Amino acid sequence: MKALFLDTTTQIARHWHGDTEREEIRRQLKGSNLYCSVYVKRQYKATLLLAAIGLYNLLIRFNDLARALRESDNYRSAQIAGIRLTQNVQKRIQQVGHWMLEYRDYEEQKLRLEDLIEDVWEELFNEALETPLIDETGCHYAEGVSEMGASGAYNPIEVSCTLREPPECKIQEFWGNHRIQLELLANMDINSIEAEPKDTYELQKVKDHAKQIIQGKSSHGQRCTVHLSDAIICLESTHCPETVAVHSTNKKHFRPLCEMLGVVSEPKD
Ligand SMILES: [Zn+2]
Repeated sequence: MKALFLDTTTQIARHWHGDTEREEIRRQLKGSNLYCSVYVKRQYKATLLLAAIGLYNLLIRFNDLARALRESDNYRSAQIAGIRLTQNVQKRIQQVGHWMLEYRDYEEQKLRLEDLIEDVWEELFNEALETPLIDETGCHYAEGVSEMGASGAYNPIEVSCTLREPPECKIQEFWGNHRIQLELLANMDINSIEAEPKDTYELQKVKDHAKQIIQGKSSHGQRCTVHLSDAIICLESTHCPETVAVHSTNKKHFRPLCEMLGVVSEPKD
């Protein structure tokens, strides 16, 4: 039996992409043991859950889902949404909104989004996963629950790695345990990586930040949650109780990193 470790993009794609892509991903996952991590769960919260919160807040402001979706790419709407409308979040808002449009009635759309924000996001995330989730980073990124404020809008969850040195955080220790791989990343020859597609700009950033950790800079903050997050996911996958391939729809980031780190990446073409 095959075993797969799911990246955040796959976790989102298996429920939220359009029909064709969703079914393709589900076909690829079927029959495999599926693993994931607390770290991926936090990343999922920071994208999918945050997008659901933004969409909900726009919906109750405009009382119309189609309008809320149109307004979500308007920077002036960011204040109404109560979250930072980055391109990534906007994309997720459209994906969630696409499925919410199935419910014709405003009240039902509102209710479904409330369910999604309160607990359905977690049920979807956990679907068919082996437990317990891997947790090698102990990261506190995107911790906390989403609460509705007095105005009826949801307060955003905190999505940065702000707790610099919480006693339980193991991200520094994580890189200590993976010193060899950290050095591989810091010294990688990007041109010699054969994987395609390959995002050389992103790889250069990974390389730079890996070097900075080796030079003693903090591994917390954006170096944890953004710059080295894909590499962290590749390495966490090696802590599963069986050998896994990392499954990510983000091929241009994961294929080259998996090649560098000696991890198998899926899907193949
Ligand atoms: Zn962190």
